[in-house]
Amino acid sequence: MIPVNPRIATLAPYGLSVPVPPGNFGLDQNESLFPPSPKALAAGQEALARSHIYPDNDWRNLTKAIAGRFALNAANILVGCGSMQLIACLMETLARPGEHVLSTRYAYAYAETTARQFGLDFIRVAEPDFTVDVDRILAAVTPQTRIVFLCNPGNPTGTRIAVAEILRLHDALPADVLLCVDEAYGELSGQSSAPLFKRLSRGNLCILRSFSKAYALAGARVGWGAFPTDLAGEMRKVLSPSNVSVVSQAMALAAFEDQEYLANLVQTTSLLRKNFQRELTTLGLLTPPSHTNFALVQFGDEAKATSALNALRSGGIYPRPMGLYNIPDTLRITIGPEAVMTRCLEILSAEVAK
Ligand SMILES: *Cc1c(COP(=O)(O)O)cnc(C)c1O
Repeated sequence: MIPVNPRIATLAPYGLSVPVPPGNFGLDQNESLFPPSPKALAAGQEALARSHIYPDNDWRNLTKAIAGRFALNAANILVGCGSMQLIACLMETLARPGEHVLSTRYAYAYAETTARQFGLDFIRVAEPDFTVDVDRILAAVTPQTRIVFLCNPGNPTGTRIAVAEILRLHDALPADVLLCVDEAYGELSGQSSAPLFKRLSRGNLCILRSFSKAYALAGARVGWGAFPTDLAGEMRKVLSPSNVSVVSQAMALAAFEDQEYLANLVQTTSLLRKNFQRELTTLGLLTPPSHTNFALVQFGDEAKATSALNALRSGGIYPRPMGLYNIPDTLRITIGPEAVMTRCLEILSAEVAK
């Protein structure tokens, strides 16, 4: 083989979930199991006919709509092929040899993958009870810390911390440490992040959002982030030009403008999740309180979790095993339509009775 960058050669590939056989339910990637807004589908159809033209490199229609809703300037907003692309872009832009990303025990694995791609160490502090602990983060800040990365609500935990806690963390961080808050499940969190968006001008805070979860557009690959103006400018040098397709930009804009549909999906999903978690508890299974479209289910030991995984797969349901996060006694289960969740509970009930 041709010699490659040794830093890349030593990396492990990012562990996506196994392919779900056709006809089965994939409850493994926290996709919406409900379809996108009909308005987004119509906008995508219409945009398809403009596919011979490059997309707007500045995502102007979309950033204008987002800026309007969150009281931001369009210059603060970057749009990526999913927020994953923006996470990678952020790491690349900030990485300098010897520096660290400080994060939490269960923070999104892809952030660690990208940090290491660009030579940054990724340090994780404990999350007692599967919940981010601001004091533990602050205690671990060193002169090498360049980014503090946290997910709120968390994935794979589903738990959230109050926005006031994030403000406290931000206030206590040195000005040359960037706080990056990944809010991929922000629309489902039940709390407003407006106080965070108001602080962009301080220069060391960014917020990431996604169209993949609550907006039901995982396949379109669109995410956005709010960044301080200077940092956004530097990241633009790294982000590949014309990254988000004509069709995806149109779909994201129409979905964003259909807040009524979003509110319905959020309400339906939250209700299904509450019922699912209540039933899990009735079965005697522990599940941290979730503010997302999934639940982390604790089985007590790895053998029980594996047995449940196999039983669910035999029943046509594919949850996500959690070996990647080193919690092999748990499964992460995306919230789907009621009939699927009922089937899931039947299988888990039989497992618990074993
Ligand atoms: C799903 C997810 C993402 C990725 O979202 P995309 O916009 O699809 O790239 C980012 N962060 C967390 C915590 C997620 O769960």
